[in-house]
Amino acid sequence: MNRIEDFIRDIPNFPKDGILFKDIAPLLQSPRGVEMCLEELLKLIGDQKIDKVIGIESRGFFFATLLAQKLDAGFIPVRKPGKLPYKTLSQSYALEYGEDAVEIHIDAIKKDERILIHDDVLATGGTAQAVCKLVEKLGGKIVQCNFIMQLSFLKGKDKLKEYNVKSVLEY
Ligand code: 5GP
Repeated sequence: MNRIEDFIRDIPNFPKDGILFKDIAPLLQSPRGVEMCLEELLKLIGDQKIDKVIGIESRGFFFATLLAQKLDAGFIPVRKPGKLPYKTLSQSYALEYGEDAVEIHIDAIKKDERILIHDDVLATGGTAQAVCKLVEKLGGKIVQCNFIMQLSFLKGKDKLKEYNVKSVLEY
């Protein structure tokens, strides 16, 4: 278990038939795995200054908080509708069937703050694109969108063309 990919488990047919879900639970159970992954995520950022790190509910929270601490930045949760207690800004996005939304506290970002957006997986890119819209509506500057892994065949990067998109692993 010397590589980060050794800690990612494939779960066939979750949450629906035909989907091969990439499960980061084994990674989170390993202090060494978490340390290696955090190091690689930090390398993607390099010496760019970051004011706030956004973690996308819920698996984005784990590394976003660790990154925020290491970068001496604040942490901002972006959550599914109805979960945040204060006033929120909401952004809906299309799913294969229907739509979903993400929310952020309206006072989470100050104008021109430099924002890092983090999630565990970039799949179709709909979620991250909606989060980018929230950041821009609040006046933040998106420095990077970073992920533990991107599922390239789902072409999420195409939805995030105007942003700096990086990931530790690519499938
Ligand atoms: P997207 O909006 O890019 O299609 O989906 C990304 C969101 O769905 C992320 O919040 C991510 O956590 C979740 N997601 C989609 N596919 C997977 C997967 O295979 N593994 C994990 N861990 N999360 C996934």
